[in-house]
Amino acid sequence: MTYVVLMGGPGAGKGTQAKRLQASLGLPQVATGDLFRENLKNNTELGQLARTFMDRGDLVPDEVTVAMVRDRLSRPDCANGVLFDGFPRTIPQAEALDELLHEFGAQVDVVPYIHVHPDLLLQRLAGRWTCRQCGHVYHKLFNPPQQDGVCDLDGSELYQRADDTEETQKRRIDVYFELTAPLLDFYRERGLLAEVDGEQSIDQVQSALIDVIKQAA
Ligand code: ADP
Ligand code: ADP
Repeated sequence: MTYVVLMGGPGAGKGTQAKRLQASLGLPQVATGDLFRENLKNNTELGQLARTFMDRGDLVPDEVTVAMVRDRLSRPDCANGVLFDGFPRTIPQAEALDELLHEFGAQVDVVPYIHVHPDLLLQRLAGRWTCRQCGHVYHKLFNPPQQDGVCDLDGSELYQRADDTEETQKRRIDVYFELTAPLLDFYRERGLLAEVDGEQSIDQVQSALIDVIKQAA
């Protein structure tokens, strides 16, 4: 069992890497942002509740987020480990995760921290395009698709997320420093934090992540 928490600011590359690592490590990606967006798309009650927070770039309340993760973790594909992407984002969420994993006789094994300078985070978010169908993420300059506006993998349309406006991006980065960055010390004190240089190429970041995860597994 290997439970991995990918840390890093908005735009650091967590989603990009989690999608690649899923295949190479055989662990499912649990991305709370994706789960909320799925609920938005299906217009569920949870989606309606999350929308107001997401549109502002604020965090969805902890109880709601933790209940959604609890439900996701109860599915059989999570029994051998998980790549958490975008969760936990607050200290209470991290404490709740410890309790949830404890119920499985498991724990957080390693917390790779994808470190990227804040100025670059904003550039990353500003050029992000996502596939409407498969969720694959591109960047208009750093990681462009072969054909403008079209996903290389399945030919579907690429879109810019509703919460990828300049104002919301800045707010998300501020919220990250205020509420999520304290988790770095939380995990450092437990000896779980492993810093990775997130300003390298996508391939280089991937191999650095595989190294730290394999060391912990
Ligand atoms: P996060 O999930 O941490 O918010 P994403 O994986 O969505 O971040 O990546 C944000 C943007 O940065 C995307 O447009 C992605 O293509 C781009 N990106 C990710 N990793 C790198 C990298 N190592 N170098 C350049 N661009 C990257
Ligand atoms: P990014 O890739 O830019 O970091 P995410 O897709 O992870 O963004 O998250 C988008 C939005 O979903 C967040 O701004 C927040 O409103 C909500 N969200 C995602 N994960 C969490 C979480 N763990 N706790 C609270 N809100 C969350």
